[in-house]
Amino acid sequence: MLNDDIDKLPAKHRANDPSRDQRWTLRTAAQLVAHELIAEDMLEQIEAVSRKYAIAVSSQIQRLIEPSDDADPIAAQFIPSAAELVTSSDELEDPIADAAYTPTPGIVHRYPDRVLLKPVHVCAVYCRFCFRREMVGPGSKSLDDSDMDNALEYIASRPEIWEVVLTGGDPLILSPRRLRSIMQRLDNIPHVGVVRFHSRVPVAKPEAVTQELLDALKINKAVYIVLHTNHVRELSHEARLACAKFIDSGFPMLSQTVLLRGVNADATTLEQLFRALVAMRIKPYYLHHGDLAKGTRHFRTSIAEGRQLMRELRGTVSGLCQPTYVLDIPGGHGKVPVGPEYLRRREDGAYTVEDYLGKSHIYRDSVDTAD
Ligand code: SF4
Repeated sequence: MLNDDIDKLPAKHRANDPSRDQRWTLRTAAQLVAHELIAEDMLEQIEAVSRKYAIAVSSQIQRLIEPSDDADPIAAQFIPSAAELVTSSDELEDPIADAAYTPTPGIVHRYPDRVLLKPVHVCAVYCRFCFRREMVGPGSKSLDDSDMDNALEYIASRPEIWEVVLTGGDPLILSPRRLRSIMQRLDNIPHVGVVRFHSRVPVAKPEAVTQELLDALKINKAVYIVLHTNHVRELSHEARLACAKFIDSGFPMLSQTVLLRGVNADATTLEQLFRALVAMRIKPYYLHHGDLAKGTRHFRTSIAEGRQLMRELRGTVSGLCQPTYVLDIPGGHGKVPVGPEYLRRREDGAYTVEDYLGKSHIYRDSVDTAD
């Protein structure tokens, strides 16, 4: 049974179900209290949070939460907290300025050779640190048929667009029928070479990865799946099976992770996550520095902390397990790697290079070129 509304379930299934064969999504503060995911005395504050930012905790995610652990890294990502009501002056409604680069609804065109296509603004779960938190949620408008026609026409009329990144919201929440239609239309645009999906579905709603879904995504072009995952405990047995289905069906997988205080901001936790991903045949792609989304200050680290963590990883895990640590420059100026750096130019034109143990060495180019 698949049921997205806990209140429609028989009473006996509204509490945690030890048989764990029911699927639901918790969407209100009252439901979180009923499931002992927040204390009753927090109800009013969490209701205030829910008026600003959507809540969704899928049954799969609920199963991964350890309610007795106040510092549970899964709960921290999905269970709202009163800290979200605090907005600092540097936080923005649209931290990476999607709106400024939206020529037609559903398209974000920031770099010449690629666009984001956002067909839907809902997700299987709502992450408490989401950089699009002001835009996603049940009340948000998804693309209607005419918007989708215009978005695909925008792509078709620009031969420089080589890659289309389906994001949202979570595009894999769409029905296989709708996805098949989008994919076939992209397949018919000759200059589109690559389609990429950004999704939380394999970890948050793995049961949605059906054969029908896999068939819908198959086209005559490269299709990549980029999994958003932040902690090794998200990689449950079900999530691993869902990812294996994608890979075994011919979809290469990458991952993206957000660096989050209280979730993964230590080298051991990141190492466990990246090793597990590589063992699942998923290449860690990006480690994102936390964006300046409103009400997310409690999750953010400094860039110095992020660089130090990357430095620690450099010494302990293979290059296969190392994502690029990136910052999305506020204002929509794009993503840039933010280090750490291992190379410094010296006055004599040579370089000082630091090895993974922190020792410095001199390197001289054997070929002269302008710097
Ligand atoms: S799944 Fe992605 S778009 Fe949806 S809430 Fe999480 S981070 Fe935001």
